[in-house]
Amino acid sequence: MRFNGFKLMLAAVVTLMSSCSSHVLFKNGRSDYSIVIAPDAPESEQYAATELRDWLKEVSGAELPITGLDGGTQGKRLVVGFNPIVEELVPGTAKPGDRDDSFTWENHGGDILFWGGSKRGTLYSVYSFLEEELGCRWYSSKVSVAPKKSSWKFSKLYNHEEPGIIIRDNCVLDVRSNPAFSARVRNNFIKLPGKGPGETIPGTAEGYWGVHAMGSFISPAEFYHTHPEYFSYRDGKRLDNYSQLCLSNPEVLEICIERVRKVMRENPDFLIYSMEQNDNYLFCECDECKALAERYGGQSGVMLWFVNQVADAVKEEFPDKFIGTFAYQYTRHAPKDIVPRDNVVVRLCSIECCMLHGYDECEQNLSFLKDLQDWSAIAPHLYIWDYVTDFAQYSLPVANWKSMQPHIQDFRDNHAIGILEEGDYQTVSCELREMRSWLLSKLMWNPDADVDALIKDFTDGYYGAAGPYIRQYLDLEERILLRPGIHTGCYIESSNEMYTPEFISEGKRIFAEAKAAVASDPVLSDRVETAAMPLCFLEMERTPLNGLNDGAYDLIKRVVGREGIDRMAEGAWTGGFLWAKDMLEKYENLIRNIKEAALIPAVDVKTSGNGVSFTRYKGDFLSTSEMLAKGTIDGKGVKPFFGIDEAEDEDHFGYVFDTWLKVEQTGIHQFNIISDDGAVMFVDGKEVLNVDGSHPDRSGWAILNLEKGMHHIELRYFEDFEAQKLDVVLTCPDGQNGPIPAERLFISAD
Ligand SMILES: [Zn+2]
Ligand SMILES: [Zn+2]
Repeated sequence: MRFNGFKLMLAAVVTLMSSCSSHVLFKNGRSDYSIVIAPDAPESEQYAATELRDWLKEVSGAELPITGLDGGTQGKRLVVGFNPIVEELVPGTAKPGDRDDSFTWENHGGDILFWGGSKRGTLYSVYSFLEEELGCRWYSSKVSVAPKKSSWKFSKLYNHEEPGIIIRDNCVLDVRSNPAFSARVRNNFIKLPGKGPGETIPGTAEGYWGVHAMGSFISPAEFYHTHPEYFSYRDGKRLDNYSQLCLSNPEVLEICIERVRKVMRENPDFLIYSMEQNDNYLFCECDECKALAERYGGQSGVMLWFVNQVADAVKEEFPDKFIGTFAYQYTRHAPKDIVPRDNVVVRLCSIECCMLHGYDECEQNLSFLKDLQDWSAIAPHLYIWDYVTDFAQYSLPVANWKSMQPHIQDFRDNHAIGILEEGDYQTVSCELREMRSWLLSKLMWNPDADVDALIKDFTDGYYGAAGPYIRQYLDLEERILLRPGIHTGCYIESSNEMYTPEFISEGKRIFAEAKAAVASDPVLSDRVETAAMPLCFLEMERTPLNGLNDGAYDLIKRVVGREGIDRMAEGAWTGGFLWAKDMLEKYENLIRNIKEAALIPAVDVKTSGNGVSFTRYKGDFLSTSEMLAKGTIDGKGVKPFFGIDEAEDEDHFGYVFDTWLKVEQTGIHQFNIISDDGAVMFVDGKEVLNVDGSHPDRSGWAILNLEKGMHHIELRYFEDFEAQKLDVVLTCPDGQNGPIPAERLFISAD
């Protein structure tokens, strides 16, 4: 207590002292300062000077002149770049390497010096100053913040930073296609694989030419008819599709060397050139390849044995370049008795990992962590390809806000030179994409940054008065989507068990409040709508009638149009949409079907009181039809509603439920089932809903136009093993929804 008090006092004295010699950078739209830069400064530093001028003008209203080293007045200079003025004022400071992205800014009297490596360091120094001292932010390519100030003065300024990761590739469309924004958030890789550099903002550090390039060097179209032996041997034959190459074949090696050399000569601006396996598991199983695998500890050993020879062959001509290979899928484990050459970059891919948890805190991530550590021990240049969104359906909620940091820290601690963070690189539809991308940029620069503070900064800065509600939504995600036992990789469907009815209803409530908080601001209202879109999409997929009734579908349509969302997934995926237009079409069809739905007439039946009659089965089965065919009847009786009372750990049982539902109002009804494992539902003798099969929670729905009166329901359900669930929810024409009340279920008198 006393110690803190002393520190506070000391701080007050220092502030008092330093305020005596403060310098005014600008006041009332005017400034006496000049931006000073060497005439031969590299392009990136000249760009830094214009960025400093332009953003200072945004903040202050004053436009500072840019002059040469002898321009400006001493004590009224913003000195950009490592030049003789810096050498004179900060004696003994070594000139940073061109590619060194670290930077310093500090004042000497009234002069402020900005310097770092000439490719990006100096530019980042300027951005850092604008962020830290003047409150500027670059939240997305479209949203920048430059707080207006009438005056600003300083007495002591100093900051020095170094990048946590050398090559920072935030692979989302908004960053990749906006080089100026990319530079402002300190990403130094904007080139698309396979394309020329084409950079419009100077100083991007490193390009990576190609991906999965082996298939382009030796394609079956070009070679299979003359040289089938170049391709994978499997089950007695050479494969004629894009499988993999037979790496033990010396001609394959020769062609690959010749072709990558040609690429390197024709595209000299890249740093790393792909010699990477194709995107499948069909590695060659010929005797020679098998022998290499045995000798070098598996398929990664065969790959490295091959790639090392390519790297050796191009080293003399290209001493500063690298050959890149994958540690991906079947080559993910590190090899034995062979190590990558100095000019080989190994790109290790985390595609199998659980996105929600740190590598050391999740069972399914431990083997990746071991591979990371094993590669780190032998690879002089380890590079990471990491996955941060849902590629099966970009627009679904993904609660990886707190796991991105430990992942990046593990990459840093294992000496990764670069990270490619793969997000929605084809479109702009991933959940809270601007914030996810901004956080990744910040964390790749500083893996130890305070994530909570960054989230608060972003949510308040980007969503204004709705910021606290966006944080409430993140808390909801943490509470429900990260509950114990939930793990997900980077392919998630809307039927995933982590999404619950409560998540949707609570989320909708929070977004309604968020929208109300910014109702008077159309720009912020649009941002809140975009943020709510993933939840609305989830609702439409799981309970479409609710989504149509509460405006979720209308919101999706508006956001898709406004944001220009074209695709919903990286590639075609079971049960999901590839294109946004297909999603809209499905919902339009649904609306039409609802309008045109034939009325299902009520049935005249004599009932004998409330309840659901059931037949219980036991046995090993994988579907409800198998249950009926080979299950043993284990009992019959009556329950108050559809339900399984069995203990959590009970397995291999099933039910057929039979009941009459009393419909109170003619109109559209929606049945929702969440079932683990399978369930099939019949209404008045017709199958209307099917989530059969052995699986974790899966949701299904049926929308029916039911006449007032009695309707027969048969529900077949079975449990295979592990967890079990059967939830049945009914939405009535008046919008009421919930479990079907016991007083509306009847058993027949017959
Ligand atoms: Zn082979
Ligand atoms: Zn996990």
